Amino acid sequence: MHCPFCKAEETKVIDSRLVAEGDQVRRRRECLNCAERFTTYESAELVLPRVIKQNGSREPFDEGKLRAGFLRALEKRPVSVEDIEAVIHHVKHDLRATGEREVQSLQVGELVMEALKNLDQVAYVRFASVYRSFQDLAEFRDEIERLEAEPVSD
Ligand SMILES: [Zn+2]
Repeated sequence: MHCPFCKAEETKVIDSRLVAEGDQVRRRRECLNCAERFTTYESAELVLPRVIKQNGSREPFDEGKLRAGFLRALEKRPVSVEDIEAVIHHVKHDLRATGEREVQSLQVGELVMEALKNLDQVAYVRFASVYRSFQDLAEFRDEIERLEAEPVSD
């Protein structure tokens, strides 16, 4: 990268170490032109995509909501908190791995269903029945709105 002092292109790394429990690399650099030293931090892009809701509005990904969904589906099921945290981690990983800046809320729902399917069959059926019927409900509402929007012909 360019030197922040003189904008020269040539800088060299004089020290490099892992920080933040290995999640970041801290590098000391020295400009070959003006000899000033500066520090850079490098970390993986961890931004989660925004969620596009059924009505087209966007909202930031909400981990609390995701956790609440899992907890509701897994209520009174023999699944440990650690396992729940692991699937939440897994879903977030999959969302990041899409590389998309926005994903459909349905896509998030599908990931949750996939995760539950492997974790607990009862919770999976529980979630799927609620989730699917919501989807049908939304389709039903869309259909009503479509019919209402159509010009009446007689
Ligand atoms: Zn410089």
